[in-house]
Amino acid sequence: MDPNYDAVVLGSGVGGSCAAALLAKEGRKVLLVEKRAYLGGRFSTTNHDGYLCATGGLAVQVGGPIEQVCAEVGIDSGVRPARRAAWWIDGQFHEISPSGGSLRATIRKVAVSEDEARRVNEALTAALNWLEPNDAISFRDWLNQYTTNPRIHGLFQATIASLLTVNSWELPAAEYFKLTRNIAPLRFGYVEGGSLKLWERMADFVRARGGEALTRCEATRICVDDGKVTGAVLRSGDREVEIRAPIVVSNLGPHATVALAGRAEFEHSHLAYLERAVRPTAILWLHFASDEPVLDYSAIAVCGTRRINMIDMPSADCPGIAPPGRHLYTVGAAPLDTLEPGDIDAEFELVMQDLRDIVPGFDTRCRLLTKTCYRGKWPGFRTVPGSPVSHRTPVRGLFEVGDASCPRGFAGSMGAAKSAMLVRDDLCGAGLWARVGRSQAREA
Ligand SMILES: Cc1cc2nc3c(=O)[nH]c(=O)nc-3n(C[C@H](O)[C@H](O)[C@H](O)COP(=O)(O)OP(=O)(O)OC[C@H]3O[C@@H](n4cnc5c(N)ncnc54)[C@H](O)[C@@H]3O)c2cc1C
Repeated sequence: MDPNYDAVVLGSGVGGSCAAALLAKEGRKVLLVEKRAYLGGRFSTTNHDGYLCATGGLAVQVGGPIEQVCAEVGIDSGVRPARRAAWWIDGQFHEISPSGGSLRATIRKVAVSEDEARRVNEALTAALNWLEPNDAISFRDWLNQYTTNPRIHGLFQATIASLLTVNSWELPAAEYFKLTRNIAPLRFGYVEGGSLKLWERMADFVRARGGEALTRCEATRICVDDGKVTGAVLRSGDREVEIRAPIVVSNLGPHATVALAGRAEFEHSHLAYLERAVRPTAILWLHFASDEPVLDYSAIAVCGTRRINMIDMPSADCPGIAPPGRHLYTVGAAPLDTLEPGDIDAEFELVMQDLRDIVPGFDTRCRLLTKTCYRGKWPGFRTVPGSPVSHRTPVRGLFEVGDASCPRGFAGSMGAAKSAMLVRDDLCGAGLWARVGRSQAREA
């Protein structure tokens, strides 16, 4: 391994992989290191008997930040849009039009009166355009001002829990509207051949630009001298090496970044903010398989259930994700309290009851492949949406990317990719690299 790079990126999640590719595109010599055996972190795929199961997220926004990064660096995202999407409400499927407008039309369908539908839709228009609520109330409390109809609440709960991994009563109302402005015109899709392929293409791009991308290589220390980053110590097998670089981009999450660099390097106010803001969310996640299709849609937003809010069938649009003739589904559900999920077995029992309601004959037609509660250090999101951590840190040359560092109005994988763009903009767009990086490189 070469001991000198322009930048070292620690962790190959969405944020780390995108940052490495974007900096390589700018002509920087980049080292990307990942401690696990595979790239992509919580947005990758692993093979379970021929089924490419997601290690976390799988739905990519068509035309969103991940695809924008791919377009910038000139690689194929491989994203295939979900062809048929639907709401599931009270046992009925309602197809979602690809041209959008579905939420308001569905509100009109489930409202008890035209007056109620008009009231809610007008409140949405006002909040999106000139009357955004603040962070002091939750989205549920905001909506309660216009309706208490459980079906209308169910539509928003399904959307919020599936996009943001929190419940509507846990989300600051403002965040919903900030996000809706960014995602309304976009659609979702899945990566052909599994998400891992996308991160492998990004790693190949980094290598082709003179950099390196390594798996099973763990960062054990971020080196800081006199308030400036100087590189990182990496362990691969039983070897430890110090890599020198004027820029370190951490995708490890804010707490792990602080632990590796040393608390003494960070201002008290920064540490205090992290303690308050970085609260990981929990998500209940299942994969199941079937020999015949048991659902007609590849993306289903599920309303009014005990726990489930989303079912995807990625194999409908990307057949290579399941063995020939078989079908793969993912199920996302939010525990009642996504910050303190409590009794996980009891939560999963409710998820299974929902599944039996939604999929007729589930127990005889389907086979459960995985059942995971993501939380703690491997969470749904690293922070509750609306409390982002800056991509800049108090240590000169040390940056943070990932879903904790996305700007407001972005979340999950789209937010992680956006944080990588912000780091690139800081370093290259505004010429910070010249000021931070090169001067440090000279001193080194
Ligand atoms: C079940 C589930 C479903 C989701 N569904 C969606 C979805 O459909 N759409 C969506 O947009 N978002 C979804 N999300 C959220 C999305 O997956 C995450 O927001 C996103 O993947 C976070 O990426 P990240 O950049 O923060 O990196 P992470 O995924 O957190 O990756 C960090 C990487 O750093 C590595 N690492 C850690 N420590 C070290 C070290 N010391 N040295 C080297 N490497 C290290 C880790 O192994 C990991 O690979 C979902 C999340 C979960 C859990």
